[in-house]
Amino acid sequence: MRKRLVLFDIDGTLLRVNNINRQALIDALTTVYGTEGSARSHNFAGKMDSVIIYEVLKQAGLNDGHIAEKFNTVKNTYIDLLQKLLRPEDVLLMKGIRELLKELSERKDIVLGLLTGNFEGSGRNKLAMPQLNHFFPFGAFADDAHYRKDLPAIAVNRAQHYTGKAFSSEEVVIIGDTEHDIDCSRSFRAKSIAVATGNYSVEQLSSHQPDALFENFSDTERAVQCIVNV
Ligand SMILES: [Mg+2]
Repeated sequence: MRKRLVLFDIDGTLLRVNNINRQALIDALTTVYGTEGSARSHNFAGKMDSVIIYEVLKQAGLNDGHIAEKFNTVKNTYIDLLQKLLRPEDVLLMKGIRELLKELSERKDIVLGLLTGNFEGSGRNKLAMPQLNHFFPFGAFADDAHYRKDLPAIAVNRAQHYTGKAFSSEEVVIIGDTEHDIDCSRSFRAKSIAVATGNYSVEQLSSHQPDALFENFSDTERAVQCIVNV
């Protein structure tokens, strides 16, 4: 039986968090660096949290050395703040996601994991609100690498540790809502499924040529068949 390792992005793909997420980062940046940089208007979609922190602070004139010095402090401050602020009503689950995860988790030919630009601490907090963490025993996060394209290999290693199986690139499916998820998938020669439940439309995602493209995952059966056969 061919097995597939299916790696989900979080924001815009599984769920959406309201403005609390951005506010937690703004508060953490202000507390630790004395400036929020461009965090209020910066486009976060599909980017690693670590990269976002560097980008918004550089726009306020801080250099790499200065940012690196307090990076762990700002990361932990942001994760703590988000945990304190986040309530279940701040998190909107995307259409069809719970049904899709339930269906996939019951299949013997599917192994589920995360591949996300979130730090593990903040990502797990977001997933805890709609109680999705149990679907994802492992993942690759912003803590693990600076570039998203380095995350698939890390997720594959963790999958091997968890299941005993060494997944090849073509057995990996990466599901996300931005061009960055599609590019990341392509760089690993994995299969890429894009879903237009984030900030990008079907037309915008289509121009980046994912292997499959969905408006949303409301049709569970069609989504499962695509994930298994893509
Ligand atoms: Mg996303």
